[in-house]
Amino acid sequence: MERLVIVGAGFAGMHAALAAARLRDISGVSPDELEIAVVAPEPHLVIRPRLYESAPATMTAPLSPLFDSIDVRYVRASVDRIDSADSTVGIVEADGARRVLRYERLVLAAGSQLFRPNIPGLATYGFSVDQLEDAITLDRHLMGLAHRPASASRNTVVVAGGGFTGIEVATEMPSRLRAILGSGADIRVVILDRNDVIAPAMGPNPRPLIEQALQGTGVETRLGAGVEALDATGVTLSNGERIESATVIWAGGMRASPLTAQLEAECDRSGRVIVDADLRVPGTPQVFAAGDTARAVTDSLGHVSLMSCQHANRLGAVAGYNAAADLLGVATEPYRQKNYVTCLDLGPTAIFTRGWDSQVEITGDEAKAMKREINTKWIYPPRADRTAAFEASEWARLVDY
Ligand SMILES: Cc1cc2nc3c(=O)[nH]c(=O)nc-3n(C[C@H](O)[C@H](O)[C@H](O)COP(=O)(O)OP(=O)(O)OC[C@H]3O[C@@H](n4cnc5c(N)ncnc54)[C@H](O)[C@@H]3O)c2cc1C
Repeated sequence: MERLVIVGAGFAGMHAALAAARLRDISGVSPDELEIAVVAPEPHLVIRPRLYESAPATMTAPLSPLFDSIDVRYVRASVDRIDSADSTVGIVEADGARRVLRYERLVLAAGSQLFRPNIPGLATYGFSVDQLEDAITLDRHLMGLAHRPASASRNTVVVAGGGFTGIEVATEMPSRLRAILGSGADIRVVILDRNDVIAPAMGPNPRPLIEQALQGTGVETRLGAGVEALDATGVTLSNGERIESATVIWAGGMRASPLTAQLEAECDRSGRVIVDADLRVPGTPQVFAAGDTARAVTDSLGHVSLMSCQHANRLGAVAGYNAAADLLGVATEPYRQKNYVTCLDLGPTAIFTRGWDSQVEITGDEAKAMKREINTKWIYPPRADRTAAFEASEWARLVDY
């Protein structure tokens, strides 16, 4: 029996499993001849794009029934070692037991983590919405504010990072705080960023609408200033200003899983493996990378994939397809993703942009309804049914939107 191991059950890992299982199915090969195994600590998809919302503990979707429906084996463990010379991964199970898993092909889809620089107080006092546990910790803290006496520190949330995630979490905060502290509470939300503009990566096109939405929700900005230190009651900025706040949320960018450093391959500044056109790790033909662990060229203009769901889904589907294709004697295919769109939540409103220059296409209630649709339907796993699962896989691998 040959084995394809997929590390991670996020968006990329799930779609890698779906695409590999579909190709195995249409090739008439049985799971006894080609095993597809997904290794991840939990058998559910964490809906990371929703972790800035209230009730984050509910932002997961089960994967075991889906994997069962397509004969994919789920291994509940973390990978802590990749030995590409030996074609094995070292895994650690929940009870601490260690095992070694051999593979014929590997798809690394272990995602990313928030980058936390060594700022005094950040590790102790900083919150985030990066992983499920982080978002649950923040939610509990916010709920607990209701039991503290009113003060500027209690009533103020500071979001450090004015990128996509920072804006989404900041514009959600006024309504979340009012729900907890009462509609009349004197709340304050501030976004900090070292850059001189908000949402620097999105370019100038959507900026006036973003600034308007921040004003509309009462979210302040402090631009051109970084975080110098945090303590229990506030944050000190690089310009010397102090803001009293019991809730500082760090949203300063992501780094790929540290597992990428175990591959003998070039990585970019975010720690992502720079992969070949068919998402193979250069020099290591048995290993593919996808999702937030991979940096891949998306089109003939040289754009590169971002740490985003839309890229993770397609990267996962193509990596899973190609890894299985290699074992089944089918030609691999190049990764291509022509379109790039975003839907940025701005609290009571949203904007939908298209293209690498983020041209605003939809705004207001229509964009907000679309964000809801994306966040509650489109990014969830397909039904645990073979036909529905394989259809979703083909959609992720081939359809541009
Ligand atoms: C608050 C927030 C908002 C976001 N909003 C958007 C948005 O609006 N639009 C968008 O496109 N993107 C958004 N993103 C980014 C998006 O969530 C990521 O790009 C996406 O989750 C990447 O998918 P992935 O499968 O590569 O990694 P992940 O979804 O992170 O999944 C990684 C998987 O690997 C597993 N894993 C990790 N380490 C190991 C290990 N050592 N061994 C085994 N398994 C391991 C994890 O448990 C998980 O199952 C947002 C992210 C955050 C945090």
